[in-house]
Amino acid sequence: MDQPISSEFVKGLAKDLGADLVGIASAKTLNTFPPDPSVPQTPERISPYCKSVIVIASRIPVAVFRSKSGAAVQYMDMLVLRRMDRIAAKIASHLEDLGYPSFTTAAQETDWDYKRASYGRLSTRHLGVEAGLGTLGLDVNILTPEYGPRVYLTGILTELELQPDERITEQVCIGESCSRCLHSCPTNAVEHFNLNKRACAKAAQEFGFMTSLALWEAMIDGNSERKKQLSVSRDMFGFWQGMLRVVGSFGDCPRCLAVCPVGNDYHAFLAKPQKAIPERTEEKVAKGKRFKEARASGKTSSGLSDYNIRWVGEEGYQGMVARQLQEFKKKQKLRAESDKKTASKLETGQ
Ligand code: SF4
Ligand code: SF4
Repeated sequence: MDQPISSEFVKGLAKDLGADLVGIASAKTLNTFPPDPSVPQTPERISPYCKSVIVIASRIPVAVFRSKSGAAVQYMDMLVLRRMDRIAAKIASHLEDLGYPSFTTAAQETDWDYKRASYGRLSTRHLGVEAGLGTLGLDVNILTPEYGPRVYLTGILTELELQPDERITEQVCIGESCSRCLHSCPTNAVEHFNLNKRACAKAAQEFGFMTSLALWEAMIDGNSERKKQLSVSRDMFGFWQGMLRVVGSFGDCPRCLAVCPVGNDYHAFLAKPQKAIPERTEEKVAKGKRFKEARASGKTSSGLSDYNIRWVGEEGYQGMVARQLQEFKKKQKLRAESDKKTASKLETGQ
């Protein structure tokens, strides 16, 4: 190639195709810093030729977090993922047309040769951090300054060498003094910059793999009466619906996404409806306080270890959300003034 392709070109392409956020991570860095070195989720385990990973994010429409039930978010999650996968496939094809072999992997996958839990060949949240799109929160969701945790991400592995983005070293998550994700969690799965995945799956994957497995085990072992009961049970309906629409098999629980105060989408549309957290209990508040004290006294959890801190933000929380809110309010004020002027002009006919 006599004309090397720049990161700016690739980012422009991704945005033109509909990505909401885009960043570049170097394959070398991803290979050097796997999220869990004992089971490395690295590009080199997938392709020895990959030089860069283009990371795109698609936001989940904020309206679903204003709705009365989790049903809205479940269906939109699936649509957002499908749309994002199509954008990623188009980017890969375009780069191949330009002479650079590129492909994308499934954003939501589990490789059982790696770990017996939700654990894909790459961790998209860690890709996002390395590509400068955000940092991990108390609940280990990636928090982007623009949309908080209300995003899905995927990566395009390419043999094109691109200038990588800088990682954000400031903690985007407000941290222990916020703990809103912890307070909202119905299964108490949020730990100290860590997540109890099994507990989370009870609410987030109501009809996911474990439920389906239990259903079919009971079907096989049950007598004919039990089989009849199960064939018309809620779990069977959930399984069928999961197959048909993917609804119920992942992303069922929107709570930690809905209440996280990071992102202008929160300031604009969620601050009011999500202000109160009905699931908040004294026990959960005490848990958040324990985390705060532990951090203040230097008793770090594994999520904050010297190795893991790169994904949380080495600089700690520096007030990003407060700055963001001030900026947002300033813009709102300016817009209100301009609307007022326009209305008055229309009224007076000037
Ligand atoms: S998705 Fe739901 S169950 Fe899982 S951590 Fe978030 S609030 Fe808890
Ligand atoms: S809700 Fe608060 S503590 Fe939880 S991830 Fe968001 S900012 Fe961090």
